[in-house]
Amino acid sequence: MIVDLHNHTPLCNHAEGSMDEYIQNAINANTKYFGFADHAPMDFDPKYRMKFEEMQVYEDELLYTKEKYKNKIEILSGYEVDYLPGHMDERVLDAKVDYLIGSVHFLEGWGFDNPEFIGKWEEQNIDEIWQKYFDTIEAMAKSKLFDIVGHLDLIKVFKFMPNKDIPSMAKNALIEIKNAGMVLELNVSGYRKKVSEAYPSKALLEEAYMLNIPITFSSDAHKPNQVALFNDEIVQLAKDVGYKQCAYFKNRKMFFIDF
Ligand SMILES: [Zn+2]
Ligand SMILES: [Zn+2]
Repeated sequence: MIVDLHNHTPLCNHAEGSMDEYIQNAINANTKYFGFADHAPMDFDPKYRMKFEEMQVYEDELLYTKEKYKNKIEILSGYEVDYLPGHMDERVLDAKVDYLIGSVHFLEGWGFDNPEFIGKWEEQNIDEIWQKYFDTIEAMAKSKLFDIVGHLDLIKVFKFMPNKDIPSMAKNALIEIKNAGMVLELNVSGYRKKVSEAYPSKALLEEAYMLNIPITFSSDAHKPNQVALFNDEIVQLAKDVGYKQCAYFKNRKMFFIDF
């Protein structure tokens, strides 16, 4: 991937490998802009994220590696932030990083993508869960707190698919993403999950393209060997839909590069 903005570090307690190992693999894959966006601290679900006290360590280490590798690759800094009203913290929202990814991993406190809580899928109406998910993405976009939409249709992770038409369910969310000037990430982590396709699906990406919503790419790597995996698939998907450029951020400002 020429741009790869969503990658994790062991600080989140569920990723492994050193920053150097991730970066080395990105260099080998000819990535030009490689960003870490680890799970930001939050007073909810603290087990799967860094602590507030670790933000400084994380940001310092990113500056250090940026300098260390400046002749080989450009390292960018970000956070993956949970859109969860009542639990978003100024220290994260005002962090001095290049960008913030807004992600929805919780619906009313339910971690729907966590295998630990998969049982809850059986107790609810799948169409309603999906609609609630996209309504939450819509609210996230309206908050205008973030630069990038993380894995737009993560709700499909376990392949509990709705009966209703997905692009219609996501329509208002996409309109608000456009209004907020946000970028959509093409995230390959879905290829590693039961659903075995990218986030978002081709059908949703086509809607985004018609609305002129820009894209970026991400490995969402939680291990160094996941960096740039499925690069060919994701680039082909973007090209098939019509995209020619992808976005990256420096200091919360958007730039574009051809891919
Ligand atoms: Zn993670
Ligand atoms: Zn995520």
